[in-house]
Amino acid sequence: MKIAIVGAGYSGTMAAVEAARAVPGADIALVDRRGTFAAGAAYSTTSGSHLLNVRARGMSAFAGEPDHFVRWVEAEGIGGPDTFVPRRDYRRYLEGVLAAVPGVRRVAGEAVAVADGALVLADGARLAFDALILAGGNYGGRLPAKVEVPAVDDPWSREGIEAIRAMAGQEKDVLLVGTGLTMVDVALTLVDEGCRGRMVAVSRRGLLPRPHEEPASPPYAVEAPPRLGDLVRQTRAGAPWRAAVDSLRPHSQYLWRGFSIDEKKRFLRHLRPWWDVHRHRIAPPVARRIEALIGEGRLEVLAGRVRGGDAESVTVALRGGGERRFAVAGAINCTGPEGAIARIGDPLVRQLLDAGLARPDALGLGLDVDSSHRVIGADGAASDRIYAVGPLTKGALWEIVAVPDIRHQVRDVALSLAG
Ligand SMILES: Cc1cc2nc3c(=O)[nH]c(=O)nc-3n(C[C@H](O)[C@H](O)[C@H](O)COP(=O)(O)OP(=O)(O)OC[C@H]3O[C@@H](n4cnc5c(N)ncnc54)[C@H](O)[C@@H]3O)c2cc1C
Repeated sequence: MKIAIVGAGYSGTMAAVEAARAVPGADIALVDRRGTFAAGAAYSTTSGSHLLNVRARGMSAFAGEPDHFVRWVEAEGIGGPDTFVPRRDYRRYLEGVLAAVPGVRRVAGEAVAVADGALVLADGARLAFDALILAGGNYGGRLPAKVEVPAVDDPWSREGIEAIRAMAGQEKDVLLVGTGLTMVDVALTLVDEGCRGRMVAVSRRGLLPRPHEEPASPPYAVEAPPRLGDLVRQTRAGAPWRAAVDSLRPHSQYLWRGFSIDEKKRFLRHLRPWWDVHRHRIAPPVARRIEALIGEGRLEVLAGRVRGGDAESVTVALRGGGERRFAVAGAINCTGPEGAIARIGDPLVRQLLDAGLARPDALGLGLDVDSSHRVIGADGAASDRIYAVGPLTKGALWEIVAVPDIRHQVRDVALSLAG
């Protein structure tokens, strides 16, 4: 069986590993335009300040082997089950997992189209496939405001990282658009690179990700089907909110599927910012650094919107009213991965949609897939050979952007290929 996989972040890498295990003898081509493997946007960082936002106990690459990562962490002498390991070390771990399976060819290149049963790369190479797994993951977004100062659209790209370093070298303030996990990463990078100016972080509500608790409260045992009202009542009665959020984890996909389209839209419009900061938490050492930066006045977090400016400054309209103007070296997009499939410029995604081989999900977040993760075409029929995994399937599953969820999905896809 010939299997082509587009994207060698966590999702594509583990789809390859699980497929190699489930389909012995398969010829697997793992394609990534970065030319790096077992890395992707999340684990390409070389900074020791960028920690996993999940404890080691939650980060096993394998669905069926929950202690796999903890054993590696202990063998490396870099912590234990409760450690928030640097993401660059997670990449070393994933690299080892990938290197241990036979039959995976690494192909550095950009996939641009599917034609006549083959994946076409930008250099014209064609990879014939029996099964194709789309694992393009976190697509970089665009700064959501028009500014005239130098701007970084994708802070995870090589060019983005270089531009951030250049901004850090100037004795000027820097504007961070977004106040979530990406902002936290970028703020730490700027400080590590010697930034002397102030960092001004702006988002509509100015919400910061909450820290993990030390030690963690164990999640409640929630019986299926989960009832949100019960958890809300327990939390209001004083039970730890983190435990309530965590206890939903095994049930989130089930709950999401049960919402009507209207309920999903309402969730996205009104609750999502709150959900994000409570669900996607930061490691305590990272939270302490961010608090210290705020305390020292080096990081200011504002609720508002960026409203233009000139070649040397930006204006922020504050949520509560009024405006502030900041002279800055530049503006960095920290809003996270692109959240709308219509705005993803990736040539392969665009071609699949244009050719009707795929269609957007009902919310326009990603690609429409069936319950076996097979991509649904414009005619409403599920493909018998194209699958999607990871954040591209967020519209269908919602809770499918992090390792603890994706690992089940990639195993399921591999098992269905074996079947
Ligand atoms: C900064 C950051 C930190 C995170 N930290 C954590 C964490 O601590 N714990 C956790 O569980 N989750 C974390 N996540 C969530 C993360 O989404 C998942 O852990 C996981 O990394 C998703 O991987 P992916 O392979 O789906 O996507 P990505 O990592 O985005 O990888 C996709 C890859 O596909 C390639 N690609 C895309 N299109 C093409 C194409 N047309 N041709 C060739 N190549 C292509 C890209 O170059 C990229 O390398 C983090 C995410 C980010 C962005």
